[in-house]
Amino acid sequence: MNMYNSINMEKPVILTGLRGNNDLHIGNYLGGLKPIVDLQKQYAGKYQVNLFMPDLHSFTTPVNHSLLQEQIMNNLRLFVAAGLDLHNSDTFLYRQSYISAHAELAWILDCFAGFGEIKRMTEFKDKAAKLGEDRISVGLFNYPVLMAADILLYGAKYVPLGEDQNQHIEITRDIALRMNEKFKAQFPEGLFQPPVTVAKQVEFARRSQGGVRIRDLQHPERKMSKSDESGKGIIFLSDSPDVAAGKIMSAATDSFGSIDYDFNTRPGISNLLQMLAYMQGEDLDSVIDRYRGKEQYGPLKTAVAGSVQSFLIDFQAKLRGVDIELMMSKLETSELAMCEQANDTLLKVQTAVGLR
Ligand code: ATP
Ligand code: MG
Repeated sequence: MNMYNSINMEKPVILTGLRGNNDLHIGNYLGGLKPIVDLQKQYAGKYQVNLFMPDLHSFTTPVNHSLLQEQIMNNLRLFVAAGLDLHNSDTFLYRQSYISAHAELAWILDCFAGFGEIKRMTEFKDKAAKLGEDRISVGLFNYPVLMAADILLYGAKYVPLGEDQNQHIEITRDIALRMNEKFKAQFPEGLFQPPVTVAKQVEFARRSQGGVRIRDLQHPERKMSKSDESGKGIIFLSDSPDVAAGKIMSAATDSFGSIDYDFNTRPGISNLLQMLAYMQGEDLDSVIDRYRGKEQYGPLKTAVAGSVQSFLIDFQAKLRGVDIELMMSKLETSELAMCEQANDTLLKVQTAVGLR
């Protein structure tokens, strides 16, 4: 019996993280933050909720290191402003780099992950294409393996993330199942508890169409991404509500001359329709029905701009109200507890591979 048994190890774990490399944007809010806060509310008492700051992931792409620490703390405040209940004793809020087992397990998993399979990750290909060869780090290539460690250390069953992360969930499962098979003589019950399949993840988080994917407003063929350097097509959670409204009004659309929902042929307008639905908590089909066939794009843009503006006014007020002392004490207690859980898994793996 280990000490951490006192912290409800028997409850299934829901885990998610958002990198602290820049201000978070509305896509991160809708695809990452809001789902975990909703799940925390919905499943209070039934699950252990791990919400962490993947700070080691923060500089897989180039960042300004003198701003990073402030960014990390700011993004932790965003989690709280999004409605995370810090008093919930099944919820753990922690910084990845404070738990050294993440980096240690990642190294071991590296040696069980195939170069060929990691090379296929589209997130890597997309980011690499934007960076140019001399700025692509080995860390960027490798980050799905660190992410696998983040998940497997806690045996997380559910990992609610945006759909850009689906491939990484699959690879986490692949590595876990491969190692379970390899070390089954020693650990017949399974070295790792892998997360459930992407299809089951989607079902669990009740995300339709495989998850939320908010597009860049200027380049709607690609997703809104905080590592994008121009920032014109991104609504940051720190944008002034008026600036954000302006970005919506100048969003790229199309020249069809009538509104329809189809991400292949008209991603810009489709993105605005989906944003309106998510921002207002309205059914996507009913938003589409209301606007389909309309020849003016202006009224749709105005509606989206208005909904984003009022969301930001409300969110930024909540951000100013975050209780920093409470947040810091939650971080400290969570980091202690998670170190114990994580070290226990690490020891098991070290034993399996012959290091102990
Ligand atoms: P980066 O460009 O640095 O990778 P990112 O915007 O992709 O930044 P991440 O930190 O990689 O953000 O992801 C944090 C969370 O936000 C994840 O759950 C991810 O799936 C989700 N997410 C990221 N971008 C979007 C988006 N455009 N729409 C919906 N969810 C998103
Ligand atoms: Mg990303």
